[in-house]
Amino acid sequence: MTQAPSLPRLAIGALGGTLSMKASQPDAGVTPAVDAQAMLQAVPPLADLAQVHAQTLHLIPSASLTFAQLLDVLHWADAQVQAGAQGVVITQGTDTLEESAWFLDLLWPHDAPLIVTGAMRPASHVSADGPGNLLNAAITALDPASRRRGVLVVMNEDVHGARHVRKTHALAIHAFTSPGYGAVGSVVEGQVRYRQALQVRQALPVPVRTDHKVALLEATLDGDTLLLDQIVGLGYAGLVVNGFGAGHVSQDWAVRLGEIAEVMPVVVATRTGEGATARGSYGFVGGEIDLQARGVLMAGELDARKVRIVMWLLIGSGMQASLQNHL
Ligand code: ASP
Repeated sequence: MTQAPSLPRLAIGALGGTLSMKASQPDAGVTPAVDAQAMLQAVPPLADLAQVHAQTLHLIPSASLTFAQLLDVLHWADAQVQAGAQGVVITQGTDTLEESAWFLDLLWPHDAPLIVTGAMRPASHVSADGPGNLLNAAITALDPASRRRGVLVVMNEDVHGARHVRKTHALAIHAFTSPGYGAVGSVVEGQVRYRQALQVRQALPVPVRTDHKVALLEATLDGDTLLLDQIVGLGYAGLVVNGFGAGHVSQDWAVRLGEIAEVMPVVVATRTGEGATARGSYGFVGGEIDLQARGVLMAGELDARKVRIVMWLLIGSGMQASLQNHL
């Protein structure tokens, strides 16, 4: 790709996902196959926007991404900014994109934007959304108004903050939403338009410990306690429960959670998909007042998967005592 030297520098790191997928033969399912260079060839306008350094970091479905790989991605993106990139774009599968974006957002120390994007339709699809998403992600990464906003998710012409974004549809092109908040901006006519002010943010330290595990269990009707009873013995360092309604569990679970909270942090979130856990409304056993009295924390509006990530990072830095401040 020919690039004028006066253009800003943009780094693109490819991790795989549907954006990079195509079928190896007509009747086969799609798998990751398109590397970063081939991805760029599908987006010719990029050459007019930036001097692009594109690198294939992984070529995998996002279900198999690990925290260790994301820490490597963070270091790679950090090195790109240190080397002069004005912004960084990471492409990955959409299945875990909301978690990666949040993980990276909590650790991203730069004013320069870090944008995560993907695609709902494979590269081989007749109307693939990957090239358009990548172009919009690049536009967002290069826009000065994106600075100091941390990690943003650009999908389907929307720009979402990492804290609230979720994949809320299995296959639709408009799969990404920020329930209760809405997108922070959109890419319209090749320009980013922000409609939410930037929030003050402070990056967490990179964890020194990474071998610990945080469990996530969901409360369900007539749910048993077999797994809960094993959590401490299995060596978990923390527990997140995707609770009912405003952050509730059954009586049996409430007793177990109180016991577990004596040895590790326990947070109860709402499994509803929108809204915050209550703090002082319900007085029954297993309600949020009872749970807090047992030493359990309430997640507020943060969804259970994202609580798990912030808990994992804080434990890895010996900062679990500050967990409440991040909910
Ligand atoms: N369906 C996924 C995607 O949208 C696959 C993955 O997450 O890698 O990319």
